[in-house]
Amino acid sequence: MSAEQRKSQAVEAVCPKCKRKEIVYIPREELPKCPVCKVQMVVSELLTEGKSY
Ligand SMILES: [Zn+2]
Repeated sequence: MSAEQRKSQAVEAVCPKCKRKEIVYIPREELPKCPVCKVQMVVSELLTEGKSY
């Protein structure tokens, strides 16, 4: 894993309309638009890397 990837933060993006979820890495990636509703998805949860489940 590169240093750049380590710095990025995994977040769970969710569509406010249909609740579709997607994992994105910020700030490397932008929050996506929902392919169904065409609205900007919002951050629902921060997913800490290395978290033990
Ligand atoms: Zn949607």
